[in-house]
Amino acid sequence: MKALKKIYLDNAATTPVDPVVSAKMRPYFSQKYGNASSVHQLGEEARRAVEAARRQTANFLGCLSEEVYFTSGATESDNWAIGGVAEKMASRGIKKPHLITSAIEHKAVLEPCQVLEKKGWAELTVLPVNKDGLVEVKELEKSIRKDTVLVSVMFANSEIGTIQPIKEIGQLLKKLNAGRKEKIYFHTDAVQAINYLSCKVDELGVDLLSLSGHKIYGPKGVGVLYLRKGTAISPLIRGGGHERGMRSGTENVAGIVGLGEAIKRISPARGAQVKKLRNKLITGILKDIPDVILNGSLRERLPNNAHFSFAGAEGESVVFVLSRKGVFTSTGSACASHSLSPSHVLSAIGLAPEQSHISVRFTLGKQTTAAEIDYVLRILPPIIERLRKIAGYKSVKVRPRY
Ligand code: PLP
Repeated sequence: MKALKKIYLDNAATTPVDPVVSAKMRPYFSQKYGNASSVHQLGEEARRAVEAARRQTANFLGCLSEEVYFTSGATESDNWAIGGVAEKMASRGIKKPHLITSAIEHKAVLEPCQVLEKKGWAELTVLPVNKDGLVEVKELEKSIRKDTVLVSVMFANSEIGTIQPIKEIGQLLKKLNAGRKEKIYFHTDAVQAINYLSCKVDELGVDLLSLSGHKIYGPKGVGVLYLRKGTAISPLIRGGGHERGMRSGTENVAGIVGLGEAIKRISPARGAQVKKLRNKLITGILKDIPDVILNGSLRERLPNNAHFSFAGAEGESVVFVLSRKGVFTSTGSACASHSLSPSHVLSAIGLAPEQSHISVRFTLGKQTTAAEIDYVLRILPPIIERLRKIAGYKSVKVRPRY
């Protein structure tokens, strides 16, 4: 029997570990298994490996090694950035520090902000986005207050791939901070951006930045929070004082080694190659399937993201049928896929709940080939046609946005 094709187009959910990365990690499980805090030789070996990965990460971000803190992933980094700054500022006498974020953030940012607000420990402004999913810098400027302590806006969105004007926001905050007693810190969740966009922290003007190992062909369960020197922040996880007292817990040495290697292997060529194939996918779908909308911005978009609404075809069904044919896609963010409620990102760009339920996300990766895209373009139109027939869909002549 012919083996089923495996075409992985869900790279925003996670990526396969690069074989070079896993080879680098392997010795740190059973041979070089020391605790990085131990003083003996095995401990020193582990410690050196952790510090090498810290330097690799710092090199990528254009920051100092001591500004890189390893965590268990971006969820922890985001929670720490928000909770840590709010707690520190409250301890400095700002009663209810004011936080600003956007309506299309990952839940790892939105939820900690909302919890702080609910508990009465912070005040929160959630900025709307325009129909492309972009934060308007003017809106952000209007929402700044005397007691604003943190702005958290993601670099690129995990569902619709929209790239936010991070540099512009960084410049605005730099200007506003000039005359202030307490700085407004700027955090960005760069998880989805890191493969394709320059993340030099000084160019962006960010003080805190989150990233995750498993989105960059590295392992799961490891991430980073970049903290600009002097950032006022309390630890989130307290205990044995690891990571210079800021993030306790025995270091995940193998994971950290993997993250360092994965980040070292990111190259600007990755984006150009992926973009060509993604454009082929978008053009092919819009040409061959009627009543389709491409969601998000055409210009300010990650090179690997294509997100569509197929009128009359339920997204879950499209994903299911494609999966039976060996093509792996998603209806949206992997973390939200257990929920039946419409995506908060799609609601924020103005999609009605029923439009949210007809959407499918394709996210390409460095391993995607032209032959794989050709295959998807061949099998997708009849799948959509069949699902529409089953649903009794009658064309309403959806006007394409692009
Ligand atoms: N932030 C964004 C934008 C993401 O896409 C994800 C993962 O889906 C996360 C945060 C959470 O990252 P992790 O899985 O490392 O906790």
